[in-house]
Amino acid sequence: MSLNAKPAAANSTSMPAPTAHRLSRREFQSLALAGATALALPAASARALPAAEEAGSPGWIDAHVHVWTPDTDRYPISSNFKVSDMQPPSFTPEQLFAHCKPQGVDRIVLIQMSFYEFDNNYMLDTMAAHPGTFSGVGIVDSKAADVAAKIKTLASKGVRGLRIHPKPGEAAEWIRDEGMATLWKTARENGVAVCPLINPSDLPHVDAMCAKFPGTTVVVDHFARIGMTGEIDPDQLSALCRLARFPDAHVKTSAFYALGKKEPPYVDLLPMIRRLADTFGPDRLMWASDCPYQVQGEHTYAASIALIRDHADFLSSGDKQALLRNTAEKVFFA
Ligand SMILES: [Zn+2]
Repeated sequence: MSLNAKPAAANSTSMPAPTAHRLSRREFQSLALAGATALALPAASARALPAAEEAGSPGWIDAHVHVWTPDTDRYPISSNFKVSDMQPPSFTPEQLFAHCKPQGVDRIVLIQMSFYEFDNNYMLDTMAAHPGTFSGVGIVDSKAADVAAKIKTLASKGVRGLRIHPKPGEAAEWIRDEGMATLWKTARENGVAVCPLINPSDLPHVDAMCAKFPGTTVVVDHFARIGMTGEIDPDQLSALCRLARFPDAHVKTSAFYALGKKEPPYVDLLPMIRRLADTFGPDRLMWASDCPYQVQGEHTYAASIALIRDHADFLSSGDKQALLRNTAEKVFFA
């Protein structure tokens, strides 16, 4: 898919395909435990954490995966899409587990797939069928009169984030948009994160919303797609780093297949990750695969997690535990 793909394109909730709060007591205890575990690790583990179990802790968390089923009778897709847009034709939890479990990933944040538009039922049913395994990021129509009620209903079913994905030019209108104001406020009141899928040019608009709605947890997808053109633009990276002054802003280090050289082992992305770790701190970064797009062609699940686990030598073992589990646990599973 081309880099200029329309937002309504088939895999638009994701990156274009490579070719083509406060701390609760539980959260605090979890983080404190993670810190203690990190201290107990032998020094050699600082550079390699081959499996989550070696840290004597729960498995890793993948903060961004899409699932869908070929059963379009039970789960109809939006009229904006055709069945042939569903590529791969199927990506079910079982297909995901075949990739993630061998890497020690046992919890996953599901991101509502664009094929289903505002119908979050397949994601919700998947979450309900695997208790404790999945959190969810849903999509609501911010222009609907009942957007606040919809968010509360989703939150009651375990949804912990809302994806916002502006059409070209739309992000500039967010600051004046009543529906978006309701979305950001209701998200904050219900412990739900706002998750922008944006291009780098939209960063000033996310920045303005963070300033207008302090306390709303924000998780920017895929480095704000910096590097999608092949180059890591330093000005764009600076714009992303400026969000670090908002304590509730987070960044997903994810979708490696689509950024920079777009070639495993993706080590050309490490300087960007290092700058973000220095600016935000590891406890506001979370790794994610963006499956199924990360498991196409030469790209593999193992290569994605390996970039953080095995190649990011500037991260301590505790830092890696933050990126690979604790940050996503705090935002999406607490
Ligand atoms: Zn995605």
